[in-house]
Amino acid sequence: MIDCGTLVYNRPEDYQLSRDEVADTNMSVPCFLVIHPRGILLFDTGLSDRLVGRPLWENVDGGYGQIKFTSLRGQLADIGVTPADITYLAISHSHWDHVGNANDYAGSTWLAQKAELDFMFAANADPAYLALYAALARAPKEVFVGDRDVFGDGTVILKFTPGHTPGHQALYVKLARTGGVVISGDLWHYAEERTLRRMPKEEETTGTAQSREMIERFLKEKNAQLWICHSTAFFRNAIKSPGWYD
Ligand SMILES: [Zn+2]
Repeated sequence: MIDCGTLVYNRPEDYQLSRDEVADTNMSVPCFLVIHPRGILLFDTGLSDRLVGRPLWENVDGGYGQIKFTSLRGQLADIGVTPADITYLAISHSHWDHVGNANDYAGSTWLAQKAELDFMFAANADPAYLALYAALARAPKEVFVGDRDVFGDGTVILKFTPGHTPGHQALYVKLARTGGVVISGDLWHYAEERTLRRMPKEEETTGTAQSREMIERFLKEKNAQLWICHSTAFFRNAIKSPGWYD
């Protein structure tokens, strides 16, 4: 798990939660590197490395202040990984806090959920956001629909969980010692969305409820833990790179 920034935010109402209901309205932004005998997968690329060293006031987007202390590229270099070493790139979805450095990894094979690919390169895609991942248009890619077993042995599976975006996906990883983990992307943002059963208003009709139910069943079936990426309570206590889970 790699620290890919922090979002300073104080409008939990956008997630149909009151300030009293949310322990911390800020959000962590992790990225994940999965090292498997058959290759390396990078899941999400976080906030742009260009934010490192820049003041918060310069980088407020839609009410989200973006802070970043260390680059993704630098943290990968710290553990001996260059972009050329990364076999596969996958993203939970194409929002800017998940694709900030996608262009740096366009030399890897992009595992592209078809619905997200279409959404990302649609005629009405916002050019400011498209610029963050434009190089993926030319990346080697494997386009698929639904779940995808990344290395073919059932230990690393992209789980199709549409709703937050049309091609949103979570990542299941089965680790030898840690056991099963589902990295939820933005299926939930705050842990309180799960306990209080809330979601952004606009997601009430886009499939988020069904995707959440499917993942809840999957967690039970696999006896897996759920990692809610944007939850600062989760992130604070998690093992971050150069440490690891195995
Ligand atoms: Zn997000």
